[in-house]
Amino acid sequence: MVSKVYWTQEYPLGKNLVVSENFPENVDFAIIGSGYTGLTAARVLAKADNSVVVLDEKNIGWGASSRNGGMATPGLKQDIFKIYKKYGIEYAKEFWKASVDAIDLLENIIIEEKINCDWSRDGHIALACKQSHYDKLPEYSEWIRKELGHKKTLVPKEEIHSEIGTDYYFGGLSDEVSGGLQPAKYVDGLAKACTNMGVQLFENNRVNSIKKIGELYEIITKKGSLKAKKVIIATNGYTDMLVPQIKPKVFSVGSYIIVSEVLSRELQKKLSPKDRMFYDSKWFINYFRLTPDGRMLWGGRNDLSTDLDLRESADLLTKQVRTVFPELEDVAFTHTWTGKLGITFDLMPHIGVVNGIHYAFGYGGHGLSIATYLGTELGLLLSGQKVRSPFEEISHQTMFFYRKDPWFLPFAAKYYRFLDWIS
Ligand SMILES: Cc1cc2nc3c(=O)[nH]c(=O)nc-3n(C[C@H](O)[C@H](O)[C@H](O)COP(=O)(O)OP(=O)(O)OC[C@H]3O[C@@H](n4cnc5c(N)ncnc54)[C@H](O)[C@@H]3O)c2cc1C
Repeated sequence: MVSKVYWTQEYPLGKNLVVSENFPENVDFAIIGSGYTGLTAARVLAKADNSVVVLDEKNIGWGASSRNGGMATPGLKQDIFKIYKKYGIEYAKEFWKASVDAIDLLENIIIEEKINCDWSRDGHIALACKQSHYDKLPEYSEWIRKELGHKKTLVPKEEIHSEIGTDYYFGGLSDEVSGGLQPAKYVDGLAKACTNMGVQLFENNRVNSIKKIGELYEIITKKGSLKAKKVIIATNGYTDMLVPQIKPKVFSVGSYIIVSEVLSRELQKKLSPKDRMFYDSKWFINYFRLTPDGRMLWGGRNDLSTDLDLRESADLLTKQVRTVFPELEDVAFTHTWTGKLGITFDLMPHIGVVNGIHYAFGYGGHGLSIATYLGTELGLLLSGQKVRSPFEEISHQTMFFYRKDPWFLPFAAKYYRFLDWIS
């Protein structure tokens, strides 16, 4: 097994991408981070006739946006019923609608920008790992139907083989609006769409500091500097101490993936008859799917840390996938990699501003569609095409004990493991 991102091995980033070398002196917007958030914000701002640069410390699209599971599913990291309890039904409706609209937006961008990224909309199923998890689903799905007007379908254990080729689960809840794609192709296509609109992309350009000079911001990298009227931080799970007041608003959690060799067509059909996206009901969630070229992609984690030993984590993931699908015992897993998710303390994505510097992040494992949505939303807000967003209205909670290092993650991991055991 090689420690490499399968997606970028299949489709190297930036093959036909025009990146810039020389900084312009002044721009309207400087965006730091070249994933879905940064590029979708850039796309909207450039369309509205602004001059825009996007800077990344690695190559364009290098972060989570080219190394994720490629699964677009409705909902946010925070459970929608808990959102309702905390913010009331109107906000719950608005956040739910945004999460569904986000998938439509993703699809519309793919069509409009002619991004060839293997997008297909075959739905997903959330799988119950215990009978007690399944028992909650009828009431939950009925609440979603009645209050949010969204249809999910209960799949009892007796019918589970129509969805997935295993007896491991106790049933599930399917949803037809979800889809899947090849993430490296999508982020690369977004980058190309941005350059077509005049956005300048700068890679291998870590932004080391941002200084306010009069009405402008000076963006300083080791290769030079430029001035911008406005700055957007779009670094999500890779957010560092660049703006120390922003760092406490998000922390990084690692997610780990393994990918198998290509499965026979028969086995593909048996394991995933409807080519669904899958995730299960554990706190230490497993998410999985067939890749567009027919490999098993299996993701999860043993811990919340971002620096687990890749080999050990791959061994754990391989054991998990073979427990669920014993047919994979003799199938080789060829690739493993990791990436960082951005999580907030209330598990909600946020749009915000600190000292005049704008940000959008905190998607958990929903960033494929939600980062696309929030980047677009931020672009619309900053170009005056939208006047409000629920994601900027709710307060963005921080914790007095976290400023820089998420020292609390090992304790949180123990707590979630305990919840998985008792729930
Ligand atoms: C393994 C894994 C699996 C996932 N699976 C799914 C999934 O199936 N479905 C889903 O919806 N979501 C998934 N996610 C989440 C999703 O990938 C992210 O939420 C989304 O890609 C975030 O996009 P972004 O643009 O905000 O950040 P990123 O794509 O992470 O981009 C941030 C960029 O900021 C750059 N950067 C950081 N600091 C600086 C600096 N000082 N100067 C310059 N550049 C800087 C980094 O180099 C990086 O490229 C997954 C994430 C991971 C890691």
